[in-house]
Amino acid sequence: MVEYKPLNPLEVPRFSEIRTFMHLPYSKEIPEGVDFVVLGIPFDTGASYRVGARYGPEAIRSQSLVLRSHNPVLGVTPFEHCSGIDYGDLPIVPGFIEDSYSAIEKGIFSLVEKGVIPIAMGGDHSITLAELRAVARKYGAVALVQFDSHTDTDPDYYGHRYNHGTPFIRAVEEGILDVEHSIQVGIRGSTYSKESIREAIDLGFEVVTSEEVFELGIPAVAQKIQEVVGNALVFVTFDIDFVDPAYAPGTGTPEVGGFTSREALQLVREGLKGLKFVGFDLVEVYPQYDPALITALLAANIIFEFISLIALNKQRD
Ligand code: MN
Ligand code: MN
Repeated sequence: MVEYKPLNPLEVPRFSEIRTFMHLPYSKEIPEGVDFVVLGIPFDTGASYRVGARYGPEAIRSQSLVLRSHNPVLGVTPFEHCSGIDYGDLPIVPGFIEDSYSAIEKGIFSLVEKGVIPIAMGGDHSITLAELRAVARKYGAVALVQFDSHTDTDPDYYGHRYNHGTPFIRAVEEGILDVEHSIQVGIRGSTYSKESIREAIDLGFEVVTSEEVFELGIPAVAQKIQEVVGNALVFVTFDIDFVDPAYAPGTGTPEVGGFTSREALQLVREGLKGLKFVGFDLVEVYPQYDPALITALLAANIIFEFISLIALNKQRD
């Protein structure tokens, strides 16, 4: 019997009540038996171009209310198999990345130490380094699946170590990634140097550019993700700029020539199915650049796929 689940949309209209993710119960305590927690990390001063992802969690929660209980494509009704809450947001310090990193690591560790799977809503992509630090404290180095149009492995930014373009080079340097089993998918757009993609490959990542995805096709790339990650414990990070700005305009560093929302959903479902998840995040949603809130709506739907994938694993156990 699943205890912590969304309000029933046939008893409480979806547009009513207070907007937690999918109308999940809000709690700052982690009750016994909770499998996952949705939470916000509204930190956006690690961004290099636009800012505004601090409003991402609120927008994603708001758009999530359209979601219903069954996932027909994956063939699972998530809350028959798993239990979750909305934990609210972590207490980041706007403008101060290292203080925010401490708060994020502490907050995420308090969840993973109980065996709960965090699903974080960013915030800009700088937050993922702190999440990985927390996850590694519990599990050791974990694999990474990164959906992104950028590698986020810049050596530094104006001489500084931390921003949303550097989390994954830092994670490799800190030894908190199982880089042999890690993959970056969707890389495209202009780069600061001709070495940019090569640098990510040299760090050990499997890198699949957008052009390569279009050549290989979505099912083949899904298969590649499965092969690279294999049995490793994995953290999934989804930068919404993976999706073409025609479908996800509300983001910090949009890159044209990307994927449709349908292609993104298909790759998430097929590429991640059955993997051993220790955490997820979805980052870089900027509501002020998001006409009709379509980016936040897509983000909410991708998080619903994450929850469905957690439920599928539970159903199988
Ligand atoms: Mn990114
Ligand atoms: Mn990106």
